[in-house]
Amino acid sequence: MRASQLYFPTLREPPSEAELISHKLLTKAGFIRRVAMGIYAYLPLGYRSLEKIARIVREEMNAICAQEIFMPALHPANLWEETKRWDECDEILFKLRDRQERPFCLGPTHEEVVTDLVRRDVHSYRQLPIILYQIQVKFRDEPRPRGGLMRAREFTMKDAYSFDKDEDGLEKSYQAMVRAYKRIFYRCGLRAIPVEAEAGVIGGTENLEFMVLSDSGEDKMLICSSCGYAANQERAERRKPFEEPINMYHQDTMLPLEKVFTPNRKTVAQVTDYLGVSAEKLVKTLIYIADGKPLAVLIRGDAELNESKLRRLLGVPNVRMADPDEIRGLTKADVGYSGPIGLSGVEMIADYDIAEMRNFVTGANEDDHHFINVNWGRDFEVTRFADLRFAKDGDGCPRCDSGLLHLRNCIEVGHVFKLGTKYSDSMNAKFVDEDGVERPFIMGCYGIGVSRILAAVVEVSHDEDGIIFPITVAPYELWMIPIDMNDDDIAGAAECLYSELIQAGVEAVIDDRDERPGVKFKDADLIGAPIQIIIGRTYKERGCIEVRLRRDKKPSLVSAKEALGHILQLRSTLYEELMPRD
Ligand code: ATP
Ligand code: MG
Repeated sequence: MRASQLYFPTLREPPSEAELISHKLLTKAGFIRRVAMGIYAYLPLGYRSLEKIARIVREEMNAICAQEIFMPALHPANLWEETKRWDECDEILFKLRDRQERPFCLGPTHEEVVTDLVRRDVHSYRQLPIILYQIQVKFRDEPRPRGGLMRAREFTMKDAYSFDKDEDGLEKSYQAMVRAYKRIFYRCGLRAIPVEAEAGVIGGTENLEFMVLSDSGEDKMLICSSCGYAANQERAERRKPFEEPINMYHQDTMLPLEKVFTPNRKTVAQVTDYLGVSAEKLVKTLIYIADGKPLAVLIRGDAELNESKLRRLLGVPNVRMADPDEIRGLTKADVGYSGPIGLSGVEMIADYDIAEMRNFVTGANEDDHHFINVNWGRDFEVTRFADLRFAKDGDGCPRCDSGLLHLRNCIEVGHVFKLGTKYSDSMNAKFVDEDGVERPFIMGCYGIGVSRILAAVVEVSHDEDGIIFPITVAPYELWMIPIDMNDDDIAGAAECLYSELIQAGVEAVIDDRDERPGVKFKDADLIGAPIQIIIGRTYKERGCIEVRLRRDKKPSLVSAKEALGHILQLRSTLYEELMPRD
């Protein structure tokens, strides 16, 4: 491609609203343009990169015998009503009506549509397993679309769905997918870490998120520096910080229990301010209702209860916070004055942190009053200690004896779920097994943010001059800068090498514009093709062409005759670096 013909409107300044470096650079380099909030158009360079990512995804999906299909973006409401997600996903669904007032939505994901397809045509175990995938735009009315491709309202996803006859089959499909995902991210130049995650609205049992470490990432994960355990912050467990049975308290350090007047002080901040103690000296008593029964959950004042952990611990589906009336009924006091002392007949579950606390503050189950110098074991009994709060930096790793967890920001680039029968049950999607018995399909679903990968690559691979593309994702492999096209020697040598490169199948751009060298260098660095070729002074003086990598800019000089061979060698080395060895 000739730069003089290439449509790549680079900008001097990034858009003022851009916060993320990927948003800034992809816009500045002429890859994308914002059409509306969270909605982007790809210009030629951006679309080439997007298609390269899609190609890698396709190759790896095809390699595990997943078959490509293409489903509609427009979904009839009735399919979403079958799974109840028409209402459940109301917030993110773009809903619309046709001329006959029939309701539709723009697909944010395709479990409903694909399950409908399969239930119509697959009836026997002999037709299983099946893995179907597509690369398609998704629509989500995200509450906080973030600059650029990272969190858009229209974005490109690869979504795959597996249908198996039993759990073993699902396990095989799931593991094949996990392996394919590792290869895909590796080939895109991303080091993605599979982390345990919560299932969220998609539902299901086991699931892994693929996370790329990046300070700009919106997600948070905890990772153990010694054994590699990794989980997102919602899911991360922590090591029990004490041995059972708990030798908890030392008589000599316990101070006499005292009730104190705390007028109108209800929140942790108000109470601790008033009493002049830190939040770590206070224990919050949260009243929950689990399957209709009240229970008290004790959490240190500076920590936050992780409701998913509570749910998992209790093992019952219906767990919710008590409302103010229920709380008054139980504690005889307003929300904010609940405490463990005197709460009879209620299960008392305390976070691990509480085990190590002495002489703390709690509500007194009486309006405008708190207790100080509270000690569990002496003043009230804990039914059980458990891991109930969000894990944080420095907590002990739950999987090894000595490692500590580190909190890191990250970008979710992919997600694999074992769905089980969640959708096949609600949509009555069944097949007949070996014994002639009708069974629901055992399903899995697997997403990759194809457009988010492009943003993630830029986030982790850039410098102050612009993008540093891995060769697999770069819009062009090579960017050639003849520093003066009006110089016949230079122009001649450049044109000659350019046609050799094209002949050899190299994706090359020759910057044949009548621009100052400074402008050409700036654009080349901004756009970030991995191999740069400079034909200028050294060619005039010594007949040498300068070859350098965008990532280190160290020039090597090669004679014009050897240039092609040298470049082809370099190019294959760059691809080899990104070949997974598994
Ligand atoms: P997130 O937690 O970031 O909102 P999600 O968990 O809702 O994402 P999934 O339903 O798991 O997303 O979608 C699969 C993949 O699609 C994600 O791993 C992510 O890479 C990508 N993705 C999801 N939402 C967006 C978005 N709004 N813009 C760009 N990519 C997205
Ligand atoms: Mg996800």
